[in-house]
Amino acid sequence: MSDIIHVLSDAVANQIAAGEVIQQPASVVKELMENAVDAGATSIKVIVKDAGKTMVQVVDNGSGMSEGDARICFERHATSKITNAADLFAIQTSGFRGEALASMAAVAEVSVKTRKPGDELGTHIRIAGSRLEIQEPVQTPPGTNFQVKNLFFNIPARRKFLKSDRTELRLIINEFNHVSLTHPDIEFILIHNQTEILQLKSTNLRQRIIGIFGKAVNSYLIPLETETTIIKIGGFIGKPEHARRKYGEQFFFVNNRFIRQPYFHKAVMNGYKQILAPDHIPAYFIFFETDPSKIDVNIHPSKTEVKFEDERAIWKILLAAVREAIGKNNLSPSLDFSKEGIIDIPILTRETEVRVPPIDTNPEFNPFDEEQTYQGGRKLHPYKENRIKGWEQLFEPTPEASISSNKYLQIKNKYILSPVKSGLMVIDQRRAHERILYERIIKAHEKQQPLAQQSLFPETIRLNAADYQVCLEMADELEKLGFDIRDFGNNSVVVHGIPSDMSPAKTADMLEMMIEQYKTLQSELDLGTTERVARATSCSSAIHYGKQLSDIEMQELVDQLFGCGNPNNTPSGKSIVRIIDLGELDNYF
Ligand code: ADP
Ligand code: MG
Repeated sequence: MSDIIHVLSDAVANQIAAGEVIQQPASVVKELMENAVDAGATSIKVIVKDAGKTMVQVVDNGSGMSEGDARICFERHATSKITNAADLFAIQTSGFRGEALASMAAVAEVSVKTRKPGDELGTHIRIAGSRLEIQEPVQTPPGTNFQVKNLFFNIPARRKFLKSDRTELRLIINEFNHVSLTHPDIEFILIHNQTEILQLKSTNLRQRIIGIFGKAVNSYLIPLETETTIIKIGGFIGKPEHARRKYGEQFFFVNNRFIRQPYFHKAVMNGYKQILAPDHIPAYFIFFETDPSKIDVNIHPSKTEVKFEDERAIWKILLAAVREAIGKNNLSPSLDFSKEGIIDIPILTRETEVRVPPIDTNPEFNPFDEEQTYQGGRKLHPYKENRIKGWEQLFEPTPEASISSNKYLQIKNKYILSPVKSGLMVIDQRRAHERILYERIIKAHEKQQPLAQQSLFPETIRLNAADYQVCLEMADELEKLGFDIRDFGNNSVVVHGIPSDMSPAKTADMLEMMIEQYKTLQSELDLGTTERVARATSCSSAIHYGKQLSDIEMQELVDQLFGCGNPNNTPSGKSIVRIIDLGELDNYF
């Protein structure tokens, strides 16, 4: 039986080089999983070796293929999924129809064993670098078993570009999660190097989310539902008090395919306006259903972006749906929109309360005592010890600048203001602290002398499967910095110690933020692991905006900042200090 037809001209075909569709092992996983779903499988098993670099195998119990189809499915633009031209432009994340298997066969060693349930014998086919090597009958269970080995074996340049195993595995887990979130009724299993990473039983959406992100998620999901003539929206959003300072649990799906949608993200954030702690992002799992003709798929195979015809209308519908869901759950009794834009008192949640700023203070410290030393003889006198040219003039006391106990003024618990010779100095408190921590970490690392460890009760932290991999990748470097984090298996780690000068209110939060930061930095290829870890650690343990600082803490922060090698910028290059000079001030009047 030949269900598979050829579509598209060679001219179009040539637009997509085979290697472009398959960029890394994760794309192989995604394409094979989607094919298995389309084949009506109720159970899909994904087995990978060495983060998919050595092998990706996907076994399904779906429709299987006839001998003819098993052969033809590897040809470019061979697909059974199009009945008319309009279908072709229906949303697809894999670019053109019929592209995936052909691409894989061009850049890897692919073999398939497949059997239709009604047939007695199945078919085994092996293709490498687009060359057919084996075609024979085989005994195999009903369904399809694809094996993709040695990706890019024939394109060494591409193979060299594959990232570390942990990174590639994390990408695989992400794709696995995307597909399994859209089909909770299907059982999915993910195995890496003989270890079972995820096993998801057939269930409903809520339980599927819990299966992936952990039991804790259950307590904070609010159902979201709305239907209009242009769009149907469903899924779950997180309770505001469970929002985190990190990305990771935000998902949009359109017609059951994962997409990135920064524009709609803003609509969701708007729905939570005034009820989130600063810099917090709520979880959401939002599914859009719409007529495929109303969306424009960015046809580039690697993109997961789509454009909606009625984008602005949908934005408003989504915003309304989010507000309604929050309201229905009676979660925002203090929601008062008349306050909009006037004040932004941070709402205290469990996440934001009692965050003692990890600043060492020395009440004995007197900035005017030249002989005073601090911490192992290191002088922290900003007036004498400035390594940056020009700072010394900045601090020469002038009669105009009154130096009293309130030499520093904190505004909005965010900026520290101080009069200086040429005008007004404004310091971003969080960035300043980030710089201080960063330099300490780098110094400790250079000296091979981890900062002393604080003994605390070991804390077991369960992470999601992807973050767990990242954490293991960071572990060696973290140890050099004074962290003692041990693998506990089953996506958990135990924190036995953290550097003495970092004492977050919640270790789990800090760890999650560090992982998040580290992931963000992963795209910057030229950064080494040490640098990434140092940046991630300083950024996640720096004091936050909204933290009120005492005079002495501000003094200490400023002193330590100007003891740094580069007090001007954060490790990632953001400005820490600005001077508003007198001329500028004069201009205001
Ligand atoms: P597409 O999925 O866009 O049709 P692919 O190259 O991914 O293109 O697959 C080509 C064809 O091979 C599919 O249309 C389908 O008919 C067949 N096929 C692929 N994987 C499976 C599978 N697991 N079970 C049954 N048929 C499959
Ligand atoms: Mg496909």
